[in-house]
Amino acid sequence: MPEGTASHCPYCALQCAMSLTGGPAGRAGSVTIEGRMFPTNRGGLCKKGWTAAELLDAGDRIVHPLLKQPDGTFEETAWSDALDFIAARLRDSRERFGADSVAVFGGGGLTNEKAYQLGKFARLALGTTRIDYNGRFCMSSAAAAGNRAFGLDRGLPFPVEDLDQAETIVLFGSNVAETMPPFIAHLAGARQAGGLIVVDPRRSSTARLTDDGGGMHVQPAPGTDLALLLGLTHIVIAEGLANTDYVESRTTGFEALRVSTNAWWPERVQATTGVPVAQLRQFARRLANGAGTYILTGRGVEQHVDGTDTATAAINLALVLGLPGSEHSGYGTMTGQGNGQGGREHGQKCDQLPGYRKITDPDARAHVAKVWGVHPSLIPGPGVPAVELLAELGKPGKVRCLLVHGSNVVVSAPDVTAVKAGLQSLDLLIVCDFFFSETARFADVILPVTQWAEEEGTMTSLEGRVLRRRRALHPPLDVRNELWILRELALRLNAPSTYSTSPAEVFDELARASAGGIADYSGLSHDLLDTGIAAFWPFTPGSAGTPRLFRDRFAHADGRARLVAVKAHHGDGGPLAGNTLTLITGRLLEHYQSGAQTRRVPELQDARPNARLQIHPATADRLGIVADGPVTITNARGAVHAHAEITSSIRHDTVFLPFHYADEESANLLTESAVDPISAMPEFKRTIVSVQAGGSN
Ligand code: SF4
Repeated sequence: MPEGTASHCPYCALQCAMSLTGGPAGRAGSVTIEGRMFPTNRGGLCKKGWTAAELLDAGDRIVHPLLKQPDGTFEETAWSDALDFIAARLRDSRERFGADSVAVFGGGGLTNEKAYQLGKFARLALGTTRIDYNGRFCMSSAAAAGNRAFGLDRGLPFPVEDLDQAETIVLFGSNVAETMPPFIAHLAGARQAGGLIVVDPRRSSTARLTDDGGGMHVQPAPGTDLALLLGLTHIVIAEGLANTDYVESRTTGFEALRVSTNAWWPERVQATTGVPVAQLRQFARRLANGAGTYILTGRGVEQHVDGTDTATAAINLALVLGLPGSEHSGYGTMTGQGNGQGGREHGQKCDQLPGYRKITDPDARAHVAKVWGVHPSLIPGPGVPAVELLAELGKPGKVRCLLVHGSNVVVSAPDVTAVKAGLQSLDLLIVCDFFFSETARFADVILPVTQWAEEEGTMTSLEGRVLRRRRALHPPLDVRNELWILRELALRLNAPSTYSTSPAEVFDELARASAGGIADYSGLSHDLLDTGIAAFWPFTPGSAGTPRLFRDRFAHADGRARLVAVKAHHGDGGPLAGNTLTLITGRLLEHYQSGAQTRRVPELQDARPNARLQIHPATADRLGIVADGPVTITNARGAVHAHAEITSSIRHDTVFLPFHYADEESANLLTESAVDPISAMPEFKRTIVSVQAGGSN
C-alpha cells in the first residue's frame, strides 16, 4: 500500500478508505487513488471510488465566482463583488418580505462541519425557518422509524464487520451490489449458509447473489412491502416463532401489534404481493431459526408515501424476533449519501438543532443558544421539509431567495418540472457547487467550492463512525471552502455569533452543541480522530465510542423499544388500469445520486451514457418495443425519453429507470410530490406510467 494522504471516498455512506498520493502541491492529474485497509472495505473500492480523482479537474469545473448577466450568460466576478451583491439582495429581501423569504437547501454529502455551520448560518445570520436538505429524499423514513421505535436513529447500530458472522441477512429493497460493491464481502458468511434473502421486485445484481444455494430472492409487486412485512410478522407470531422473553422484557406494544397483523394472513399477503405462501413461510421460518440474523432496509422500502410505516414494520419484525441489541443479530438501515448520517444530525433538517435535538424543545434551544452565544429567542422555530420548501419557491408571500449547497434538485427532487418553474420564479438563486450542474444553470450567482480531496473535515459513515476527510492537494486559486463563504456572508449580514473557517474549530463547536443530544459528538476532536481511533458516537474518552447500541436498553426513557402497530394503506392492491405499468426509480453501479459528479468521469459515463428503461420481454413484445430501441415513458406530469433494456429480471407489470440522468432522460419528470405524512419522504418507488415505442431520439 503506498504512503499517501489517508482519506475516504467522496461518494456513498460506506465511506471506503483510500490513500491519495500526488499532493499537496500537485493538481489532480498527479493524484493517484489506492484502496486502504479499513474494516468496512478491506482495501476494496468500486469503480466510482477508483476514478474519483477525475472529478478534481473535470472539464467544466467552476473555478471563479460567476454572475448571471441580463442576456442569461455567466461572467466571472471577484469574490468580494459576488458576496456584496448576495448580501445586499438577501438583506433587501428580508427587510421587504420577512426572514422566511430566504431559504437554504443543503446536502447529505457536506462534511459534518459544513452541515453544522449551514444550519447555524440559516438560523442566526438569515433568521429563517426555511432550511432543509436532500436527505429528505434518502434517509428520512428510516430515520423517523428508528426514532419512533428505538428513540434514536443511527443507520447501522453495529459495525459492518458484525455481519461477517451472520448466517441470515435480509436485504429489504437494497441493491448493494451496485450501490456499494465492497459491502458484498460482508454477506459471504450468510451466502455460504444459504441465508441471504433479498427482497426486490427486480432480479437485481444483489438478488442474483442468492443463486446457487446462496439464499432466496423474494419478488413482491412494487409498493406492497408493508403488506409483506405484516404478513411475515403474522406468520412469526402465529407459528410461535416470536422471542417472547425478549418481547416481554425489552419492548412495549406487542398486543396491539399482534392484533394489527391478524388481517394479513398468508393467502391475503400472496394475493397482494404476489409472493407465494410457501415462500412466505420459508422466509419467516428462516428468520426465526438462523443463528445470527440481521434485517437491513434500503431505499426500496423506504422511499414511499408509507415509507415510515414500512420501515417501522421491518423494525417490528426484528423486535418480535428479538434481534436489535442481541448478540450477533440486529436491525439496520443502509444509509445512502456519503454523509447521510452526519448530514441529518447537525441542524440541516427543518425541525432539528445540532445533536439531533428537536428545535421546539426549550431545553435544546437553550443549550444550543448558549453554545452560539445568543439568546434562545434568536433561534427561529421549525420550518417545512424539502418538498414543501421547494413548492414554496417563488409563490406569493413565500420563498424569494434560495441558497443551494451540495444539492442538484433539478435532477434529484420529485416532479422536477415544478421545481424548475419554482427556481425560475425566484428573485435570487445562489448555488455553491464545483460543477455547472443542472441546478446551477438556473442560478443568478454560482460560487465555486472545494472538493473532497481539497479540504479538511469529518464524515459520519453508515455505522455512525466519525471519519476524517483530509486534504491531499490545494484547490484551484479562486475556489473557496463553504465555511469561508458562510463566514464572509455572516459578516456582511452583521450576524450574531462567530463563524470560524477552521474545520477543527467548527468541529469542536459542533461537539459542544451536540453534547447531551441524541447524536452526541462530545469528547471527539480532529486531533483525536487523527490518532486513527475508531470513533462511533456516542463517544466516551478512552474508548472506541459505542460500536454496538441497544445492548442493555433502548434510548426511550423507559429503556424499551416501541412496537408500533401500522396499517398497509395499499390494501389489496389490484391490477393496474389499462396499459399502465409501475415505474421504479433507482441506481446504477456507475453513477451516484443526481449524476452531477459521475456523469463527468469518462470511464463511468462511457459505460452508462444514457437512461435505459428495464422492461420485461413479454411487456416489450406487447408494446412493440425492441431491444435498444427508443421508448417514451409518460404520465400526467411529463415524458421521459430512454432506450429499452429488455430483461426478464423485472416483473411484467413493472419497469425500472435510473434517476441519475438529466433533461429529457430525467426519471423525476414522472415522480410525484406526494410525501409520507411523518417523514416527508416523496414516493420514488411506485409511479404509474405508460410506455410507448419510439421517442425523440
Ligand atoms: Fe466505496 Fe461507496 Fe466509494 Fe464505491 S462509492 S468506493 S462503495 S464509498
